[in-house]
Amino acid sequence: MSYVIPPAPQASLAVQGSDDRFPVRRIFCVGRNYAEHIREMGNDERDPPFYFTKPADAIVPSGEEMPYPKATEDLHHEVELVLAVGAGGSNIALKDAMDHVWGVAVGIDLTRRDLQSVAKKAGRPWDMAKGFDQSAPMGALLPLADAGALTSGAITMKVNGETRQTGDLSEMIWSAADCVAHLSTLVELKPGDLIMTGTPAGVSAVGKGDLMAAHIDGLPELMVRIAP
Ligand code: MN
Repeated sequence: MSYVIPPAPQASLAVQGSDDRFPVRRIFCVGRNYAEHIREMGNDERDPPFYFTKPADAIVPSGEEMPYPKATEDLHHEVELVLAVGAGGSNIALKDAMDHVWGVAVGIDLTRRDLQSVAKKAGRPWDMAKGFDQSAPMGALLPLADAGALTSGAITMKVNGETRQTGDLSEMIWSAADCVAHLSTLVELKPGDLIMTGTPAGVSAVGKGDLMAAHIDGLPELMVRIAP
C-alpha cells in the first residue's frame, strides 16, 4: 500500500532532557477556567467548562519565530498549562486521572479575538478564531514525575519583558485532573492528545516584532517571537 499524496509529518513536542519526542494526536482546549479571566470577558464563572480544538500541526516550538497570522487585527495571547495524555481512556475516574498524563508543558492559546467576537455574536463556531495556523506555541514537555503536583505555582505571560498575565495554578476552577476526567466523558482520550487548560486574567494583544515569554513555575520556558 502507498498513499496517493505524501502523508503529513507527525506533529510532536520536544521532551526536556531527552532527544526523544512526544507524538501529538489532537489538541483540546478548555474555555473559561480561571475566575478572573471569566470576569474580564464578561461571563459567569459558575458555567461548566467547554472545549474547542486546534490542529496538531498548529504547534510552534519554543525559540522559533512565527509570522503574524493572517485575517486578524487583534491577536491575543493566553498562557496555559498543557497536559500531554500518555495513556488513553474513556470516563476516567477523577482519582485515576493524573495516571493518564505523561507530561506537562507551557503553551500559548493564540486567539484571533476579532474573529472570536464576531463568532460569539453570531452563535457560530470558534474554529477560525482558535484553530488557525501556528496558533499553539508550546514549550518542551516535562515528564509528570519531575513536575510535582501542579496544584499551585505561578503562571505568567510577558510581552517584550512587560508582564501582561499573572495567575496561579491554584486558581483553576477545574484542576488538571478534573479536566482529564471531564473531557473523557465527552471523547475517548487517546495517547498523544494534548489538553490546554485555560488562561488566567490579563489577556491582551500582541503585534509584529513582539517577543512572547510564557512561564509556569518549574516548567521549561516558552519564548516565541512574532516576525517584524
Ligand atoms: Mn484559552
